[in-house]
Amino acid sequence: MAVNFFFIILNFRLQNLSAILTAALCGIVTADFGSGLVHWGADTWGSVDLPIIGKNFLRPFREHHIDPTSITRHDFIETNGDNFMVTIPFLARMVWDFLALPEEEVQKKFIWNCYVFLLAIFVAMTNQIHKWSHTYFGLPSWVVWLQEHHIILPRRHHRIHHVAPHETYFCITTGWLNWPLEKLHFWTALEYIIEYLTSCKPRADDMKWAQKRT
Ligand SMILES: [Zn+2]
Ligand SMILES: [Zn+2]
Repeated sequence: MAVNFFFIILNFRLQNLSAILTAALCGIVTADFGSGLVHWGADTWGSVDLPIIGKNFLRPFREHHIDPTSITRHDFIETNGDNFMVTIPFLARMVWDFLALPEEEVQKKFIWNCYVFLLAIFVAMTNQIHKWSHTYFGLPSWVVWLQEHHIILPRRHHRIHHVAPHETYFCITTGWLNWPLEKLHFWTALEYIIEYLTSCKPRADDMKWAQKRT
């Protein structure tokens, strides 16, 4: 991230400012949508008894509904390791582009790279932002400021997702898309289509599992 940030500053041209800002904004919105999609998938489908992904991927999402504050006791690596790792190939590719491509090509790809850069930063920070949304004591004042201005997921906003049966407000990066997606009945429609095609019921395992553990 630091190396790419250096190259972005180095190749920045003021005349592209509006395109750069638009690309950056789209990157952040894409990260929010991605967080919603992954979170919705893990909350809604599959069983914790599935091999490999059940225990490693689905279970933390389901457990988070039963004990929402346990995330606040995870250290930086446990909270963010997975998401930071996902961004590495894309950021590495970008470093390579900045180093290897001729100046003209770098400028051609510059707006796209600004999009990918902001997308990567917000994907990497998603779990940290989610953790902050559950933290009520000792947050740095700049984090609270970002939450209160809804630049990152605000605490009260995320609480809507934590009302059972956890079927809306899945986006946990900025939360910007939660309201429009809810108004569009986006998740309900997606669940309806999947249920129609596969005859799997959404959250079928979730209730069973929650009762077993409480
Ligand atoms: Zn959830
Ligand atoms: Zn949460």
